[in-house]
Amino acid sequence: MDKIYLAFLFLMIIPILICIKYARKIKSDVASSIVRCLIFAIITILGNGLFALCISETFSYLMEALYLFSFDMMLIYILQYSQQYTLVFNEVTPFRTGCFIFAYLDGISLFLNTFFHNAFTLKTVNYMNFELYHIDTKNIFYYIHYVFAYCLVFCIVASFTIKILQIPSFYRKKYIPILAVMCIIILLNFACNISEFPVDLSLPFFVFAAILICYLTLYRSPNELIDKTLSIVVTEMNNCVICFDINNDCVYANDKALKMFDSPSNSLATISDYAQTWIEEHNINNRNSLEWSDEKIIDNKKHYFDVEYRKLFDKKNEYIGFFLNLIDNTEKHLAFERERYLATHDTLTGLYNKNYFAEKSTELLKSKPDEKWLLLSSNIKDFKLINDLFGLEKGNEVLKMEADLLKEQCGEGIVYGRTGGDKFAICIPKARFKEQNFTNALRTMGKAFNNDLYHLHIYLGVYEITDINEDISIMCDKANLAIKTLNENYDKSIAYYTDTIFNDTIVEKQLVGDFDKALDEKQFCMYLQPQMTSDGEMLGAEALVRWQHPKRGLIFPGDFIEVFERTGLIYRLDKFVWELAIQKLAEWQKNGRDDLYISVNISTKDFYYMDVYNTIISMVEKYGIIPATLKLEITETAIMTGTAGELDIINQFRDYGFQVEIDDFGSGYSSLNTLKDMDVDVIKIDMGFLRTTKPERIQRSMSILNNIIALTKTLGLAVITEGVETKEQVTELTQMGCGIYQGYYFSKPIPVNQFEDTYL
Ligand code: C2E
Ligand code: CA
Ligand code: CA
Repeated sequence: MDKIYLAFLFLMIIPILICIKYARKIKSDVASSIVRCLIFAIITILGNGLFALCISETFSYLMEALYLFSFDMMLIYILQYSQQYTLVFNEVTPFRTGCFIFAYLDGISLFLNTFFHNAFTLKTVNYMNFELYHIDTKNIFYYIHYVFAYCLVFCIVASFTIKILQIPSFYRKKYIPILAVMCIIILLNFACNISEFPVDLSLPFFVFAAILICYLTLYRSPNELIDKTLSIVVTEMNNCVICFDINNDCVYANDKALKMFDSPSNSLATISDYAQTWIEEHNINNRNSLEWSDEKIIDNKKHYFDVEYRKLFDKKNEYIGFFLNLIDNTEKHLAFERERYLATHDTLTGLYNKNYFAEKSTELLKSKPDEKWLLLSSNIKDFKLINDLFGLEKGNEVLKMEADLLKEQCGEGIVYGRTGGDKFAICIPKARFKEQNFTNALRTMGKAFNNDLYHLHIYLGVYEITDINEDISIMCDKANLAIKTLNENYDKSIAYYTDTIFNDTIVEKQLVGDFDKALDEKQFCMYLQPQMTSDGEMLGAEALVRWQHPKRGLIFPGDFIEVFERTGLIYRLDKFVWELAIQKLAEWQKNGRDDLYISVNISTKDFYYMDVYNTIISMVEKYGIIPATLKLEITETAIMTGTAGELDIINQFRDYGFQVEIDDFGSGYSSLNTLKDMDVDVIKIDMGFLRTTKPERIQRSMSILNNIIALTKTLGLAVITEGVETKEQVTELTQMGCGIYQGYYFSKPIPVNQFEDTYL
């Protein structure tokens, strides 16, 4: 009987040994706690099993002590495992150490019990004809042992219970079965302890529980949990996941896909229809997998996708359907397009920007190298004025208007863009350029901008491309050079580039290069043109500069003033001429001729580069001339386009005693306005009124002159008419009331000494 009992004991140990073997293979804290716990479980079983056998009394005492002590140890390792597995109280190391110390003390007390009976005493009982040892009396240390053991049990149950209460219900499945197994075993053990049966009958259940916990903890991957997690991942994924069966019918679409295809979840037919087009387009049923990028219009909105297609096979490798994984790149794609657009287009007009125009033009030229091509560039006359007078918004409106005009004029096969500021450029086959169409269009646009203060005028420079490999920006420069030849003229809009223009530019460059030396060497000189009454009495003269160039001979201001204005050199030349005039006045005044005056020209640009007022004042003071003998000629454009500062300067000049003249009155954009805004002494009527070529217009011009003169009279201003060439003009103008004349009829501008010889 003993042998059968012993065999049964060992039979119980074998499954635990197997569990230990498997648990040892797993490298984790939890597994090593389980291994230790199982080792003590074996000792517990052996202790409890052997204790009851009547081998000897001392042996039974020792075995019972072993059983009770290893039970402590087993519980401690179960607690350690519970804490590691649930991560509840896992960090409390002093508590764990305390448990070990207590268990060792308990062990000592239990083993000493063999001699001192401090915990319990044994007696023999007869059970079903077997002599067995059984606990007789239970003393204080026995109860201490049990209180300790049940404290550990409580902590174990608490760890699992807290964990279960803390975590989302989704994960509870992982812990509840283990807690249930533990609770059952605890209850069984408790029942056995209070029963009077000598052997702990819960031991076989211990074995069963050990195996179960090992399995649940170390080996079970909760499939259901994984399935659920995966299904949530797929549902929530930011990609569209769509699954199809072997009939190509859609069987599943995640939320994103349903939303994208705007399909109610109960009807996957829409998605099946879309998929059908993919299946046909890419012939995907003949492949196992494929990836491609695609665009589809869904619900009137264009979508950009990266599509992944994959066939699905079961474990037996049988085809069970396929899935599509769509990554919706629409936002990214649009952002990229937007960025690209911004990098290549002008935001205001939506036309190509300078660089992209060049790129596209080069492409176009190279695509048809045998064709004849033109490069056109446009420029708005005095565009800055629009901004200054009417504000940036109006300026922008004009640019958009011009852009619209280009879109209208240029069709397929023509490239056009905004190349900067108010400049637009067009690359067009020569055969398609109809000058008249462009002139008309530009004129129409000019008229559309209806304003009394400013006349919109657009120039077009045309460059015939001779070498398609030439840099586009150079072609644009050449077209722009052509525009310069129009000289800010109102009656012409289109100019063609010629090599002469190029040469002129070079000449211009040379003039600028020669300037410094010319000023140093006094190559510039003053000519005087007399201003006379109708009776031929000389009142004074206008100072006009001439350039005695060592290589080119005498150069007239028409050839260099504009160049120097553009290049910012004019103020130095003007200062030089002013000084010549003031010196001459000082000389005359010294000789008693303080009745004569000289008019000097002040360029618009002078105001940008120097303090005109102080420059002139200091010269006048230096030579001590009478201020009234120096007249200052300022064009109305200078005054009207300048800031309010220029109007102030005029008043300061007049306060000082100078006479201020409006030069070229009637040629600017707003002559009458000028009169309203500024106080001057003299008005010098522009020659243009006398240069009318058409005979039928002469009368008209004269009538305007008549009115201007009458007007100046009422304003109390003196009038000079410039450019009189005939006796008739003088007679007629005198009748109108003009008092002073300057013109070839009386004299051309002449060198100073000749002037003095003739008039003084
Ligand atoms: P402006 O101030 O209007 O000067 C009058 C121009 O008309 C002069 O040309 C003069 O020779 C010309 N002229 C005078 N009477 C007649 C005439 O009866 N018939 C014709 N056809 N022309 C006549 P010029 O000297 O060639 O000067 C041209 C322009 O150059 C001037 O026009 C003025 O704007 C500018 N300029 C001349 N000298 C200076 C200067 O020292 N400084 C500045 N800033 N500009 C100057
Ligand atoms: Ca003048
Ligand atoms: Ca003039």
